[in-house]
Amino acid sequence: MVASLAMDWRETAVCITTEDLGVFFQEDPSEAKLTCFRCPARLACLDEACRIQAHEDLYGVWGGLTQKERETLVLRRHLADGQIEVIYEELTEA
Ligand code: SF4
Repeated sequence: MVASLAMDWRETAVCITTEDLGVFFQEDPSEAKLTCFRCPARLACLDEACRIQAHEDLYGVWGGLTQKERETLVLRRHLADGQIEVIYEELTEA
């Protein structure tokens, strides 16, 4: 069920028909962001990107946000979930 839901948003992803996926990994993210903001899959894409990014580095623009913007979003999500102590302990482990 989860897999089929995940496939649904990919079927409407605008970037699937984009010839140059390199725009999603450029230093200037503006072109990629424009593509994402007209993508009907944007929120589902962003949600999945944030889930992945909570555990590993995920480069490029996903769901209209850069890696740094998603990191901020993930951190805010954790703050809202009351998990900031867990993150702090992970970051300060020697
Ligand atoms: S939001 Fe952007 S990266 Fe995500 S599926 Fe759409 S075009 Fe691709």
